[in-house]
Amino acid sequence: MSIEIAGLTRRYAEVAALDAVDLSIRDGEFIALLGPSGSGKTTLLRALAGLEFPDAGSLHVHGRDLARVPARERGIGFVFQHYALFRHMTVFENVAFGLRIRPRRDRPGGAEITARVQRLLELVQIPELARRYPDQISGGQRQRVALARALAIEPRLLLLDEPFGALDAKVRKELRVWLRQLHDRLGITSIFVTHDQDEALDLADRVAVMRAGRVVQFDTPETLLARPADAHVAGFLGEAVRLPCTLADGQARFAALPPLAVETSLPDGPALAFLRPVDLAAEPAGGDAPGNATVVSARHDGRGLRLTVLLEGTVLDATPAAGWAAPARGEPCRVRPLAARLFPA
Ligand code: ADP
Ligand code: MG
Repeated sequence: MSIEIAGLTRRYAEVAALDAVDLSIRDGEFIALLGPSGSGKTTLLRALAGLEFPDAGSLHVHGRDLARVPARERGIGFVFQHYALFRHMTVFENVAFGLRIRPRRDRPGGAEITARVQRLLELVQIPELARRYPDQISGGQRQRVALARALAIEPRLLLLDEPFGALDAKVRKELRVWLRQLHDRLGITSIFVTHDQDEALDLADRVAVMRAGRVVQFDTPETLLARPADAHVAGFLGEAVRLPCTLADGQARFAALPPLAVETSLPDGPALAFLRPVDLAAEPAGGDAPGNATVVSARHDGRGLRLTVLLEGTVLDATPAAGWAAPARGEPCRVRPLAARLFPA
């Protein structure tokens, strides 16, 4: 389902939880809402689900104005961070609940409910847990049950509010890969709230970065990393280090790094530079020219060898120059900037 959000505003006393939010989401997209705590992510989901009423603005789903549509008729599935399953009900009954509360005219009969719950439990890959109670399964399994319950009403739009927030890192990573595959298979539209940038960048087709009730940038992960809209987004995303610099004569000059030739529309004078690990090249060296640093650690991540270096009291992540196969801890090196994103100081 396509979604059009226009001028959506929700105030609590002095706080604008949502401050004129505009978003256009295409049918079948997987969208992440990414922002710090208190930026309005939950309020936006709740407004879509019909659990929260905006003070201004509009919501359209597939061209239909939601203003007068009650929550239970919106056909939207919702998974919360701490979705307390019903503890006195089995996994089976928890999932069946989503079907039993449907309005009478679309409520399936008993045999149909049994068959559907079984299919849903297979879909979320826990058919063997049907008779267990929530206390008898793991946190990751509980979130699968919560998801099966949300999917029971066959929503075309799925809202997930930090659904994996309470789980450990490894389980989170597995579940997010699995969730993305499930989304693709079902052909639904999903909006996933997180304050974890890796989760957002990994999962989503597009990420809406929120701050203080506003969407400050809405773009693909690649564009967000390559062209952050402002210094805040640049600082929030990726693993960029933030260094003050001075712009003059087409160069950015740093306190402890060699200068970098830049093309920028910013005026000469102080500015802020954000440099990712790939923007900093490290090579073996000695002496005390600008950029001389010491290797703190070297490790392999998914993309290759990554170095952490200490440069005049600042810890930086850098990429070793081609051919430097085995940098060792404590080894002297020289760091050179290759590129930077620049913002007003
Ligand atoms: P997030 O999910 O990004 O952490 P929320 O949408 O929960 O943010 O909250 C956005 C802002 O609105 C916060 O400042 C929060 O304190 C405020 N807020 C949310 N719900 C209420 C409420 N029911 N009453 C008062 N303030 C609220
Ligand atoms: Mg929240």
